[in-house]
Amino acid sequence: MGFAGYRQYASQSTIAVFRDVAPVRKYRRDLLLSGRTVGFVPTMGALHDGHISLVRQAARENTDVVVSIYVNPTQFGVNEDLDSYPRTWNEDLQKLETLNTEFGANAASNSGRITAIFAPTTKVVYPTLPPTSELNGDGSFVTITPLANKLEGASRPVFFRGVATVCTKLFNILTPDRVYFGQKDVQQSIIIKRMVQDLHIDTDVRVGPTTREPEGLAMSSRNVYLGTRRRKAGLVLSRALREAESVYRSGEKSRMAILGAAYAIANAVLAEQELLPASKRVKFEVDYISLADPCSLDELECVDESRGAVLSGAVKMHPLEEPQPGEDCGLGGGSVPVRLIDNIILQPSS
Ligand code: AMP
Repeated sequence: MGFAGYRQYASQSTIAVFRDVAPVRKYRRDLLLSGRTVGFVPTMGALHDGHISLVRQAARENTDVVVSIYVNPTQFGVNEDLDSYPRTWNEDLQKLETLNTEFGANAASNSGRITAIFAPTTKVVYPTLPPTSELNGDGSFVTITPLANKLEGASRPVFFRGVATVCTKLFNILTPDRVYFGQKDVQQSIIIKRMVQDLHIDTDVRVGPTTREPEGLAMSSRNVYLGTRRRKAGLVLSRALREAESVYRSGEKSRMAILGAAYAIANAVLAEQELLPASKRVKFEVDYISLADPCSLDELECVDESRGAVLSGAVKMHPLEEPQPGEDCGLGGGSVPVRLIDNIILQPSS
């Protein structure tokens, strides 16, 4: 298929790269007219296996997959470092090409292909006013309240306004049949579902499972900043949530019992670290551990088994105090603070 207005980054590339709205709209219209379906995976790049699992799911369910790679400035707060967000364009492209080769090799799988990357500039995404990260700044924004003010939103007040706004723009441009989000960012997936419902956006929101490192850490583009010491200590969050889940599974339904188990793990690891010298320890802070309703995200005193619940948490990993010579401290030498989030869904009983 030939599309106007796109670039191919390598002569043998199977994926068209679009940077502007009009050409990608034409591409999308042509697909519609030929009865093809579009699965859209929005990302900020620095692709890892979590993103890839969403692309695989999209390829199973659509003829054409579009991946967007765009680091959206409006979801970063004024004190959050937009510039330090990892950018790995060439590697991202290579990963997507490799996936296409895999999809093509298994002809019997009837899999779709990644046929386009949408990588717009900020001027394209925000065509009139320059984007702002100020809470009271001007601009055309989508706000989904009160969901966006809870949990992650309490610490990052402009985050979900930025996410909802950029997703609305991308959905308007691409009109995908299905959009793919990771459960890793559970609040984001709940907000996007609410937005699609409330704003009558004609797409199906699909949520794929969290992809983890073998030890249990949820994959994230920002994990490259952790290094070995903080990566190990960062397991505290998934461990705490798993412990809370097992308490729930053992029959406990009360907030006190379920979250008590999670905080017991977090406090034990904190105490352990505090006993270590600065050359060995990791300083971290639990921002929250929450037990919330899966639709409203209201905090629960007791889980109603017929509704289930979302167990989620966030931990701030502080910079290393004393990085050691030869130590793998991650990108930035251990100086970049890293916020880890994770969650487990307590499924409703059927
Ligand atoms: P990001 O590039 O971080 O904005 O993420 C793009 C999409 O990938 C979002 O829908 C995320 O929820 C999803 N995602 C990120 N990390 C993971 C993971 N470890 N497992 C599954 N999905 C993920």
